[in-house]
Amino acid sequence: MNDEKKKALEAEIYSYVGKPIGPQVIGRDPVNSPMIRQWCEAMADAHPAYFDANRAKETIHGEIVAPPTMLQAWIMDGFDMSKGYDEPQNEQQRLHKLLADHGYSGVLGTNTEENYPRYLRLGETVKALTVIDSISEEKATGVGIGYFITTKTAFENQDGEDIGSMSFRVLRYKPAQEQQAVATGAGKDAVAAKPSRIKPPMGHDNGWWWTQVKEEDCLPIQRCTDCSKLRHPPRPMCDACGSQSWDSIKASGRGSIHTFTVVHYPQFPGYEYPIVSIIVDLEEGERMASTLVDCPPEDCKIGMAVELVIQEDDDGFKIPFFRPAS
Ligand SMILES: [Zn+2]
Repeated sequence: MNDEKKKALEAEIYSYVGKPIGPQVIGRDPVNSPMIRQWCEAMADAHPAYFDANRAKETIHGEIVAPPTMLQAWIMDGFDMSKGYDEPQNEQQRLHKLLADHGYSGVLGTNTEENYPRYLRLGETVKALTVIDSISEEKATGVGIGYFITTKTAFENQDGEDIGSMSFRVLRYKPAQEQQAVATGAGKDAVAAKPSRIKPPMGHDNGWWWTQVKEEDCLPIQRCTDCSKLRHPPRPMCDACGSQSWDSIKASGRGSIHTFTVVHYPQFPGYEYPIVSIIVDLEEGERMASTLVDCPPEDCKIGMAVELVIQEDDDGFKIPFFRPAS
């Protein structure tokens, strides 16, 4: 894209800043017990203030309240969200289509921040207005050049009372592989090498885990050396005794599927779709997110016994997956 075209594109995308993506969304159901109960089941949150009316009376709330982190769930579209669209239906979709049409075909959620002034009570209606808050200048990132788009959502109840806010940032980018192909004149059809998987962040607290997977072909689980409690994913402190001393054990690799979802979209280069994304109850008692392989999605069942298989990508990156137990 030459400078003039880029300037024109940027003038157009920056004109979206400050625009609401559409009308205020009104939650389809008021805050209600069944949704709260199902959310808590999925999150394994057993706090009685969320579903036991008698015990909730004894809490500071005096009644059943909703977990604050459910805030966005109250205004979600349900299965309609998965239908996709031919023509953009709102300003956010128009902005994304504009960038996609100019080669920024990748999209990656980068971070979100939520603010909860108070707990929601049964019967409240949740309303939300989302505004395109900012668009960065073009940035060079590990996955390709692109723009960070931040939306801000203001939540209010039926009386217009502030009940929370959320900012959500995504990166809309030109996948690096396509840029390389263009740079070498190979063209889009001639991209021969399989793109590599997006690498997870490997920082001070979890880098050791990936190194051990790679070097020892195992699934490590962090263990507190003071009280022996296991924990996963890796983190600096034991949630049972507060100790920061730890070592690790090697998991047996046996477990069962706690729950799963089949991911069709969005599709990133380097992955084969659909992906059967699973939460595994490890034999050791810890739970981890992984991917089910060697199994058609329709054969995946909750409770199914699975076993570890360390996958090695073409670039040498190793990642623990699971397959049906033999
Ligand atoms: Zn401990």
